[in-house]
Amino acid sequence: MYEVNETHDPALRSWVQSANQSGTDFPIQNLPFGVFRTLGSKQSWRLGVAIGDQILDMSAVIAGGVFSGKLESGLATDALAACGGQSLNDLMAMDADHWSALRLALSRGLREGASEAEALGRCLVAQDAAEYRVPADIGDYTDFYTSIHHATNIGRQFRPDNPLLPNYSWVPIGYHGRSSSIGVSGQSFPRPVGQTKAPDAETPSVGPSKRMDYELEVGIFIGTGNEPGRPITMERAEEHVFGLCLLNDWSARDLQAWEYQPLGPFLSKNFASTVSPWVVTMEALAPFRLPFNRPEDHPQPLPYLSSAANREQGAFDMKLEVLIQTEHMREQGLAPEPLARTNFRHSYWTVAQLVAHHTVNGCNLRPGDLFGSGTQSGPGEAEAGSILELTAGGKELVKLPGGETRGFLEDGDTIILRGHCEKEGTVRIGFGEVAGTLLPAVGM
Ligand code: MN
Repeated sequence: MYEVNETHDPALRSWVQSANQSGTDFPIQNLPFGVFRTLGSKQSWRLGVAIGDQILDMSAVIAGGVFSGKLESGLATDALAACGGQSLNDLMAMDADHWSALRLALSRGLREGASEAEALGRCLVAQDAAEYRVPADIGDYTDFYTSIHHATNIGRQFRPDNPLLPNYSWVPIGYHGRSSSIGVSGQSFPRPVGQTKAPDAETPSVGPSKRMDYELEVGIFIGTGNEPGRPITMERAEEHVFGLCLLNDWSARDLQAWEYQPLGPFLSKNFASTVSPWVVTMEALAPFRLPFNRPEDHPQPLPYLSSAANREQGAFDMKLEVLIQTEHMREQGLAPEPLARTNFRHSYWTVAQLVAHHTVNGCNLRPGDLFGSGTQSGPGEAEAGSILELTAGGKELVKLPGGETRGFLEDGDTIILRGHCEKEGTVRIGFGEVAGTLLPAVGM
């Protein structure tokens, strides 16, 4: 696990003035990676690092030779050379020492008084003038189910007598999702059509989903992979994780209820999932780690899911928020309305445990693979990470500014997820946001 080091020093200030403003998601202590190009252009995609309201264009940094002959470490030189492509995969395929060396070089170059300031200043692009792609070429996507509060709330609706299945406390439950339909913030998609069966109906019918939902999740990008047949141990698990982002795992609850037994979610989940453009590195998150612990009356994780470092600081203090802006609210000029707030700290399983469990059977992970944490719901009612939970299955409607109500999502609704970390004695870092919009069904 990463140590807190000079790159996290709260006293650091950048010569990019917007990075020093309080409340910015992207101070110099953050330095997340993404992939961008000029808005509306047909340019090649290029890697960028968010700083304040700007993007440091890594292709321009390489082309300009800004760091040529200046980097003390060969690791940083090699890592910088992996930033010239059109996705984060080459950088992700390196290792934690390389990512760390590059972060240090960027931190030093972006600090007030840095000798590279003028040359790096020529490599800035305003975030307002950029568009983004999914930051990595995602080979495989796995979605987990790590919030016991979500699992219990959902289980109660699908199986009132038996909400939490007995394996939940032992196995980090997951399913293999689909990467082809993962989009970046700004994604819109038609309401999915599928088979559903009303409880009182004799037979199923096909049509647009009537119970559309979002899921407030943390996305976990795998960096270094492992060879088939070579499990990743808990001790090494975090070295294989590049960073975290925000993920909305859109869900059609009526399709899900009819299809999910016996093999789990299928068409209820694979029509769209949306990630935030910026990936916050594991090193940037070092100051915001928390102990992982289980209630004493719960089973403790089996040895292959346990380590001293995981107990001491396996969890993340990451605040999460979901907001809605309906088409009507947009027309009325009403701001997005918060629906729920929670924290990744409530997760029943840690990121390291997901990596160790996913590979214990010999399954190989590859750079750019994405894990979803599963919907993050906290213990309180206002901390629910899906509308299914907030409205008790569509029965207790949410009231919105402008007079509308919601049981499930309506066409034109935009859902926005935000996340940030803050702690006394540190500089707040943010994840930006992920927005996505549900469009009317097509083809029926
Ligand atoms: Mn999910």
